[in-house]
Amino acid sequence: LANTFKNYSAPSFLPSFLPSFLPSFLPSFLPSFLFSFSLQFSTGGANRPAIWIDTGIHSREWVSQATGVVFAKKILEGYGNDASLTSILDNFDIFLEIVTNPDGFAFTHTKNRMWRKTRSHQSGSSCVGVDPNRNWDAGFGGAGASGNPCSDSYRGPFANSESEVKAIVDFVQNHGNIKAFISIHSYSQLLLYPYGYTSQKVADQAELDAVAKKAVDALQSLHGTKYTYGSIITTIYQASGGSIDWTYNQGIKYSYAFELRDTGRYGFMLPANQIIPTAEETWLALMVILEHTRDHPY
Ligand SMILES: [Zn+2]
Repeated sequence: LANTFKNYSAPSFLPSFLPSFLPSFLPSFLPSFLFSFSLQFSTGGANRPAIWIDTGIHSREWVSQATGVVFAKKILEGYGNDASLTSILDNFDIFLEIVTNPDGFAFTHTKNRMWRKTRSHQSGSSCVGVDPNRNWDAGFGGAGASGNPCSDSYRGPFANSESEVKAIVDFVQNHGNIKAFISIHSYSQLLLYPYGYTSQKVADQAELDAVAKKAVDALQSLHGTKYTYGSIITTIYQASGGSIDWTYNQGIKYSYAFELRDTGRYGFMLPANQIIPTAEETWLALMVILEHTRDHPY
């Protein structure tokens, strides 16, 4: 996998290595790259409680999608070998959407490496795209997002206007039994929980904070990478229309967002040799959250 980051820079990157561990998904994937899909890892049962993980909703944050690929591999190889992951998968389904903003992702390969938004056309503007993490129905339109279609943080004409967002919203609501929702971004080395759109504390603040601390401690234990944690609004800035604010308000208590490496030296252009260390350390934090979710049913 360490060598796949070069392939990853071409839209055809997925078929080049997916067959090695996800052969059954290829037929549904091959017809068009620009349709995203989520992987379901399940050991059976009907509508089991579930864990959602998405990577790459902001297209330029390439280490996010790469980490999603490593996660898929770790989930597949860990079942039956890693006791903790095995017990999680015996009780929960895991859904993993790796290329959550496919049009934007393609655009980062072909035209503009720094593209963040979707690629939807906006009526009355020549500017393209909506920030898919300002488009959710949580404080939508409030401070911490832009109403200007030319802004990188444009919220969109209305909540859920973006198909990339609407698809997840519909999925979460139709599923109805998702217990943890984790969205992976880069960069800044942060582990965040709601809220972003308001300074009001979430009802589960103390628990979410304690789990976050345990998770970043686990993350740091591998390579010494230091993370800051806290609510979005207190840790970075006010941001409205974000995904984990919406999922928390839907009753998904364990809603977290990661900002992966680094803290700005390379930023979005994180070198490929940091993919595996980033994914490995993040996996430890992820497992803390998933174990806590497993052990605290609600
Ligand atoms: Zn992001």
